[in-house]
Amino acid sequence: MRLSRFFLPILKETPKEAEIVSHRLMLRAGMIRQQSQGIYSWLPLGKRVLDKVCAIVREEQNRAGAQEILMPTIQSADLWIESGRYNDYGEEMLRITDRNKRAMLYGPTNEEMVTDIFRSYVKSYKDLPLNLYHIQWKFRDERRPRFGTMRSREFLMKDAYSFDLTKDDAIHSYNRMFTAYLRTFDRLGLRAIPMRADTGPIGGNHSHEFIILAETGESEVFCHRDFVNFDIPAADTDFDSVEGLQAVFDKWTSLYAATSEMHDEAAFGAIAEGERLSARGIEVGHIFYFGTKYSAPMGARVQGPDGKEHEVHMGSYGIGPSRLVPAIIEASHDESGIIWPDSVAPFDVDVINMKVGDAACDAASEKIYEALSNAGKDVLYDDTDERAGAKFATADLIGVPWQVIAGPRAVAAGDVELKNRRTGERVTLPVEAAINKLA
Ligand code: ATP
Ligand code: MG
Ligand code: MG
Ligand code: MG
Repeated sequence: MRLSRFFLPILKETPKEAEIVSHRLMLRAGMIRQQSQGIYSWLPLGKRVLDKVCAIVREEQNRAGAQEILMPTIQSADLWIESGRYNDYGEEMLRITDRNKRAMLYGPTNEEMVTDIFRSYVKSYKDLPLNLYHIQWKFRDERRPRFGTMRSREFLMKDAYSFDLTKDDAIHSYNRMFTAYLRTFDRLGLRAIPMRADTGPIGGNHSHEFIILAETGESEVFCHRDFVNFDIPAADTDFDSVEGLQAVFDKWTSLYAATSEMHDEAAFGAIAEGERLSARGIEVGHIFYFGTKYSAPMGARVQGPDGKEHEVHMGSYGIGPSRLVPAIIEASHDESGIIWPDSVAPFDVDVINMKVGDAACDAASEKIYEALSNAGKDVLYDDTDERAGAKFATADLIGVPWQVIAGPRAVAAGDVELKNRRTGERVTLPVEAAINKLA
């Protein structure tokens, strides 16, 4: 992508309305635009990152055996009346009436709808376990939307729903998602700690929130410091192994970790002072086992091996990709801008032509741009006629992991400079060597 043609509306001024660094940087880097309170458009740079986050979420859901579907954003109130949640959900639900005066709503979550899909088709325990997920926009009329897409009213959620014959099977399904979540957040460059959590309006009795420690987090959390160094389950983890996944769960819940709603001051106090971590955190994922809370009122039953009908045991598992983008920035930035982890960077390489119009600089830049693009890299090529200082500022602000700087002096010697955005380290290399290093 040539920067001269890329829609990157960078702001010179720091926006006053933004209270936290991720919100400021997302606005300044032209990633998002607010359309009305808590409702955002994603501009090209932001959309690239959001898509990369979703791709990792999707890969790990699939690896864990979940299957992707796509349910609509608009739901009929009837299903929610059936489950008994229509009145309980309260003011966060955006209620809509269609032209025929039917009660509809913009889905804040999809337990009812997926239970309806399940009960329409699945009749036998032989078709279990089943886990269906989608990545879809949700709407919650938050009392206090703030911090950009960190707490917006319209937001993207990956929500998965598991169906099992028995509670034991459902716990295995829960452990699959628990393990998938550890891997997902690790691949996003984050350290998320599973903490015992309250179940809120989803309901149920077994639940963990995945929390990223951050000063600007809205949750108050308490945990053992050792979680910061725990090992992440490997890519070849056997998700069918009941014992294997139980061992992952047991390890990751062996030490104290709780959100403020579930906090037990006495248990926390029993941990040695230096190992206690009392901090603020961002909830990036939340998983629930809630048994037959929806299958019972909605009649989602299968025939068991005993020939009898059984209400299925369910769980639901949410991740917020549109919250993860700012959460990643909160965890990874400096005074010059964003520092993307490689896995979600909007581009892999930023080729900066320092003297556009100079034949040697143009030739070296184009050569690197083409070679790396052909090698399958996402390359941004700064072919604009901005001054050098502005080019560097933009490159640092948008946080692409590698900058290749083609300036007249280096190019005359057949070289370019490579800068690593995270470490700030610079090396001068021949053009070919630079290509080989980054390809
Ligand atoms: P919060 O406590 O922040 O209000 P929640 O507990 O209401 O979140 P869940 O119902 O558990 O949210 O939804 C699953 C995930 O969806 C959350 O862990 C979070 O990542 C994301 N999410 C929820 N609400 C929002 C929001 N308003 N804006 C962005 N992401 C959100
Ligand atoms: Mg909420
Ligand atoms: Mg919450
Ligand atoms: Mg939650």
